[in-house]
This record gives sequence, C-alpha cells and structure tokens, in this order.
Amino acid sequence: MKRLVLLGASGSIGKQTLDVVKQHPDLFSIEALSVGKNIESLKEILSDFDIKEVCVQQQEDCEILQKEYPSIHFTYGEDGLKYLSELEEYDVLVNALVGFVGFMPTLSAIRHKHDVALANKETLVVGGELIKRALEEYGCKLYPIDSEHSAIFQCLQGNRSEDVKRLIITASGGAFREKTRDELKDVTLADALAHPNWSMGDKITVDCANMMNKGFEVIEAHWLFDMPFEKIDVVMHQESIVHSMVEYVDGSVMAQMGTPDMRLPIQYALSYPDRFERKADALDLCSVGELHFKEPDVRRYPLLALAYQCGEKGGNKPAVMNAVNDVANEAFRNGEIPFLMIEDLIITAVNTVPFKKIETVEDLLEANKWGHQFALEKIKGVKQ
Ligand code: MG
Repeated sequence: MKRLVLLGASGSIGKQTLDVVKQHPDLFSIEALSVGKNIESLKEILSDFDIKEVCVQQQEDCEILQKEYPSIHFTYGEDGLKYLSELEEYDVLVNALVGFVGFMPTLSAIRHKHDVALANKETLVVGGELIKRALEEYGCKLYPIDSEHSAIFQCLQGNRSEDVKRLIITASGGAFREKTRDELKDVTLADALAHPNWSMGDKITVDCANMMNKGFEVIEAHWLFDMPFEKIDVVMHQESIVHSMVEYVDGSVMAQMGTPDMRLPIQYALSYPDRFERKADALDLCSVGELHFKEPDVRRYPLLALAYQCGEKGGNKPAVMNAVNDVANEAFRNGEIPFLMIEDLIITAVNTVPFKKIETVEDLLEANKWGHQFALEKIKGVKQ
C-alpha cells in the first residue's frame, strides 16, 4: 500500500489522481490533500475518501470546515501546504499544484525524505538546481507525471543514459497551431482553451497555446534526465499519440504511445517499476490511421526559443520567465491583456533582469518577486 499526499486535488491532474486511487483502493491511499478555493469539490472528495489532513487556500474556509468536519485536521495557505508535505506518515507526495507555489512543497517533501510524483513542472523550471541538490542529499526520487516526461522515463528503462543521443519531446502545438501570427492578435480566452487533444486546467492550456508549456518541458527534461539542452529536441506531432521519444547512439528510436489520457502517466509515476491494470480505452492505431511530425517554427513560437536560452543561461532567468508567465497568463485569462502580450512581457522581462545565480531558496523567492512586480507594473500600465 502506497500512502499519498495529494496537493491540488480539485484541479485536472488532482481529480485524475483520485480516479487512479479509486481504481486501485488496495494499492493506494490518500492520507492528506489540498485544494484551493473549490470547497464544493472538496466536500465531494471528502464523501468518497477517508482523509485525515486537509489544506485549503483561505483561512476563512479553513475555520468553517474545521467546525463542519471535526474529525479532520484543517490548515490553510502556503504554511498549510508545507505542513502537509512535511508529514511523517506517507510515501509519495503527488504535486499537482499550478505555478510557482508548487516549488516549496516539493523541496519540503524531499527534505523530509519523501519521494515526489511531479506534475508541477514549474518546480523544476524555477529551481531545478536546488531540487537536484536536495534529491542527492536526502536520497529521494522524483517521478514525472507530465506525459512527455513519463514517455521519456519509460523509453529510458533498461538502457544506459550515456547511450542516449537525444530526447525528442513531442508537441501538439495547442489551440492555435493553424493560425498565423497575425491571426493571434485578437484571439480570446475561449479560443485558447479549445485544446485539440488534451483536457487540462486553464493555465496550462493557455501555456500550450503559445508553447510556453513546451519551453518549460524542455527545462523540465534537462533536470529530470540530466541531459544537456543540445540533446533535447522538440517535434510537432498533432495527434498526441506518440508522447515523446528517445534516440540512442546506435540509431534506435524508442517511442511511448497511448491515448491522450493523463491517468496513465499518473498511474505509472505511482506504480513504477510495476505496471497495474487500468480500465481505459485501448490505443487503436488502425483507427488513428496516420501520425504526423514536423519541425517547430521558432518564429511562430518565440517562447520556445526563449526557454532554451533561459535554460542554458540558468540562474534567475528561468525563474523570472516563469514568474512573468504566471502573472501574464492569469491577466490574459481575466481579460486584462491580449494574448500576444504574454509573450512580449516575458521576453522583455528576461532581457531586462540582471543575471544572478540562484544558490538559495531566498535567491529564488527574490527572482520570483522581481518577475511578479515587473509583470504587474506593465499590466497596470495597460489597464490605465
Ligand atoms: Mg506535457
């Protein structure tokens, strides 16, 4: 029995993690979980699962819920997330938070000798070096939930990493893959949320539309698999059936395929090295018929190129890129800025911020704050 702490339980990955646990009640249990402000969703979860510890975002919700559910211990905010990740009695932290807020719980869990199944890619984008150091120091493991990284992780099994020639990350191209740059000027949130293949949370779906997400995934792959950036390529693949590939020095290319269903990578992150049965639609390649691949156009998706540059440069650059994206993505979703301004803000910020090394958590918090303030000021200017 693997005992889990699940952060971000009411989000897309969180809900699908609960599905996986429900399918295997003899193998997994949820000891503790967090949600944001979705209290309705929390109440549904609490009627299905026996949970001992819950963290919510707001103090007010925490106080009301504590009276309603006296047998559960409630906490709130970032301190609550830290508290859950530092609990003694569990095996794996499933981090399905969105944005920078996911970093500290990952680090805290590792520092308390817990393995982490990671869906929060921002953790590695902003603080890959700190996380890697902590994993070595505390002897813990990080299992990827992101579908591309799960695919690569699966393709690496039974092989030596020194025999890898390159990692090939596939990209669907998101909602706007058929649009020209000019047509992107007036796109709406509803347009951006219409992802052709995957059903995901709003923030990441917008990140897919401008390929910030794919840029993050390149940096994530660099840290997860200890691979230099020149050995990580991105290939456009519109069907989202090949979830990523590994090419070896002898020319062999291993691919992992499946229907676009996040419950598979979630389950593998939790079952590894075993494979458990799963009730799901089988992949029928004959009905898929054709698979397409092409080179990404970096002028069409400047954030992908920027992510490579930030990853190479390291220091505070990736953290600033992420911080500005967190704010700008949200501002676009709130209708405050046009779609293409997300890109403009990120590029300007990364080129403006003076380079600094990230040696401590404080350095990281400072870089994140710098990016936040930069983005908020620019967005305030647009609103006036
Ligand atoms: Mg992905």
